[in-house]
Amino acid sequence: MHTAIELNGVSKWFPGAAEPAVHDVTMAIAPGEIVALLGPSGCGKTTTLRLIAGFERPDTGTIAIAGQPVAGGATPFVPPERRGVGMVFQDYALFPHLTVSDNIAFGLRHLPAAERRSRCDDLLALTGLEAVAHRYPHQLSGGQQQRVAIARALAPRPHVLLLDEPFSNLDTEMRAQMRAEVRELLKAIQATAILVTHDQQEAMTVADRVAVMLQGRIEQIDTPDIVYHYPATRAVARFVGQGTFVPARVAGDVALSDLGQFGLDQAPAPQLVDLLVRPRDVTLEVDPNGVAVVTARRFNGAEFTYLVQLPCGVQLQSDQPSYVDIAPGTRVRVRCNRSRLAAYDADTRIGLTAPR
Ligand code: ADP
Ligand code: MG
Repeated sequence: MHTAIELNGVSKWFPGAAEPAVHDVTMAIAPGEIVALLGPSGCGKTTTLRLIAGFERPDTGTIAIAGQPVAGGATPFVPPERRGVGMVFQDYALFPHLTVSDNIAFGLRHLPAAERRSRCDDLLALTGLEAVAHRYPHQLSGGQQQRVAIARALAPRPHVLLLDEPFSNLDTEMRAQMRAEVRELLKAIQATAILVTHDQQEAMTVADRVAVMLQGRIEQIDTPDIVYHYPATRAVARFVGQGTFVPARVAGDVALSDLGQFGLDQAPAPQLVDLLVRPRDVTLEVDPNGVAVVTARRFNGAEFTYLVQLPCGVQLQSDQPSYVDIAPGTRVRVRCNRSRLAAYDADTRIGLTAPR
């Protein structure tokens, strides 16, 4: 079985830039898989998509789509229109003077009229746009425009679909709805897709795997829960979600911290490690003998975010349901409610811990 998309050691330097925009990127995407390329603005996400689509040429490395080399190495460069790639852009780029149907059928001009119509009808049904088939883009809601853009990209039956920040023009509520809809749609037709986004929640809810990109490099590519709870590097931990690094002293295979003792699965470890603790990883218990003190409490709209001072000097962040009502100044006992925590040396995750 071939991969749907494969990048091997792909780099791209823009003239005059101090660093490559895309730096030695290697990843393989399976047929039917949805991968989110997640990273801050300017980290190289769009350039990576453009390299895959064929709008940029790699300086090093090779790219293959559906098992066929398309760029790099000894391969003659395959232009975008012959790569079998569908693109959906942030602004949708719909043709304003064409109806919904004609937008969708735009890439099918080479097909006989009957075939063109039947494919267009299928896509109108799939995306729930039948009732607005004869409208023009300006007569549609943001969500409908996005569905047209996706239907148009899918019409020529591309091997892969590339979506660049497709939800950023939608309001918060619509965005949440469209994320779920788009995932369902892509899964229904078993599409292979790369979704580019700087929004971690979007990446986590839509994708099967999340590739975290920082400064042109893929730092980690894994399932959303692994990326969230066991980030490969401190940089990924800082970019994805909130959390606190709690120091621990290592003795043999045990890490001792203000949150208790943990067994360390990887030895030898440095003498000092940091444990990544997410705001939901701990519970707080009022205890006059507790070593930690609640210093602040904020209501974040759904729950309380507590700041808790630990003896080691670190301020731990803890999210608690609103019925956990503890006044600032109260002494508490802090318990870890995860079976494993990620442990870090200066840069990198060096192993996992389990409570002892
Ligand atoms: P992202 O999509 O993650 O925001 P981009 O891939 O658009 O990032 O850009 C990555 C880096 O490459 C940025 O520093 C950007 O300024 C630079 N860049 C992008 N396109 C070009 C270009 N055509 N010429 C020169 N520099 C570019
Ligand atoms: Mg971009």
